Amino acid sequence: MVSRGDDIVTPFFVWASKTKLTNWAGNLEYSTDRLYSTNSLEQVRSYVKKQSKLKVLGTRHCFNNIADSTHNFLSLKSMDSMVALDQQTHTVTVDAGMTYGQLCPLLHSKGFALHNLASLPHISIAGACSTATHGSGEKNGNLATAVSGLEIVTAAGDVVKLSRQQDGEAFRGVVVGLGALGVITKIILDIQPAFMIRQYVYENLPLAAVKDHFDAIEASGYSVSFFTDWQNERISEVWIKSRDEAGQEFEATPEFFGAKLATKNLHPIGELSAENCTEQMGVPGPWFERLPHFRMGFTPSAGKELQSEYFVPRQHAVEAILAVQRLRDQVSPHLLTSEIRTIAADNLWLSPCYEQASVSIHFTWKQDWPAVRKVLPVIEKELAPFKPRPHWGKLFTMAPEQLKSSYKRLPDFMQLSKKYDPQGKCRNEFLNTNVFSS
Ligand SMILES: Cc1cc2nc3c(=O)[nH]c(=O)nc-3n(C[C@H](O)[C@H](O)[C@H](O)COP(=O)(O)OP(=O)(O)OC[C@H]3O[C@@H](n4cnc5c(N)ncnc54)[C@H](O)[C@@H]3O)c2cc1C
Repeated sequence: MVSRGDDIVTPFFVWASKTKLTNWAGNLEYSTDRLYSTNSLEQVRSYVKKQSKLKVLGTRHCFNNIADSTHNFLSLKSMDSMVALDQQTHTVTVDAGMTYGQLCPLLHSKGFALHNLASLPHISIAGACSTATHGSGEKNGNLATAVSGLEIVTAAGDVVKLSRQQDGEAFRGVVVGLGALGVITKIILDIQPAFMIRQYVYENLPLAAVKDHFDAIEASGYSVSFFTDWQNERISEVWIKSRDEAGQEFEATPEFFGAKLATKNLHPIGELSAENCTEQMGVPGPWFERLPHFRMGFTPSAGKELQSEYFVPRQHAVEAILAVQRLRDQVSPHLLTSEIRTIAADNLWLSPCYEQASVSIHFTWKQDWPAVRKVLPVIEKELAPFKPRPHWGKLFTMAPEQLKSSYKRLPDFMQLSKKYDPQGKCRNEFLNTNVFSS
């Protein structure tokens, strides 16, 4: 059931939808199909005031039930404009329904860029930042680190504006808010002058080179990703995204720590067509057409899949990679590909990279939850010595106590939520279990 405030006279008009509301991957059927679509701040305020329970839906790219609701969904999809570009403060203000795919070409046409992007541009900026979505690059914080201001409609329907400059600790608590603190209606992001990137892919990096030269390999580009099926003691593909600027160029020698320079564009999942992927082979292109792996307008990744991802402290990168490698025979049968990335430390309370430079080990699984559900605890146990933090928007089986113990600012976050959503209007089963349970 969808009610829309955008294209009809009454915002509460309801029309029946034949298909069930699911997440992007289709592995999760949401618990209600009551979706209200809004197109103004005033509509958001009045809707929020009227509901006793709701969740905001972004572009539905999470794999777990973090976005689910048994009551009501609010969509800001039609609030998707770039509101202001401030060349003095180097910031852009956007409506919270905007996706990176909508913002980036616009920003580029004005001569500006964001510092980094995730593997796909299709996701909403608000949903991505709320779950600490990240790209790669050891000097690049996750996407939420670019947030310098937020406009939020609280559970009471009040409008609150928070900024990095004015609101210090509270701001750092709110940015990765998991959708638990109200409805984000506007976001201000840091921008920088537009830049060009060249993307190179190498094939078959020996695992021995990862053991001996991890730091040098990671430092070779602005953003570096490994893709592997964990078989044959090698990383299948190394994607190096290099800024096309003096002092930052990557010299694409035919061989790189034993890996061979690819001679055609590749997909991270070897058997899939590279048509869906951003241009490689060192062809220079604007930042937003190289930083994601997948092109806007094309299906990212495989589509029919599941995803999991764990962050561990960067200093344990090699040990953690070898720990998963030991599980290859249990992991590989269910896997489409794994990706390994680095992310800079940040100061956002619920970021998996809070005060910790991190390496993330990601799994794109075949869509077979019974099998994946069995293998996740095995991976989590093997990574346990490194205190792994799961991606907030992907599948994990870790006990809530273990999850919560790795976030030292969680009590502060719970305290903060009393200010913005004292009755838990925006909470759901995921949040009650993994964040708010005592
Ligand atoms: C193919 C694919 C590739 C991916 N690649 C990456 C990657 O490279 N790196 C990475 O880190 N992750 C990646 N992800 C995961 C993805 O980035 C996250 O799941 C992200 O949250 C998706 O944003 P969304 O808008 O779809 O979120 P949704 O699933 O719609 O929502 C996520 C959360 O944000 C909240 N939310 C959304 N909008 C608002 C708002 N306006 N106000 C308050 N709360 C809000 C929701 O309530 C929910 O709690 C990938 C996912 C897919 C499917």
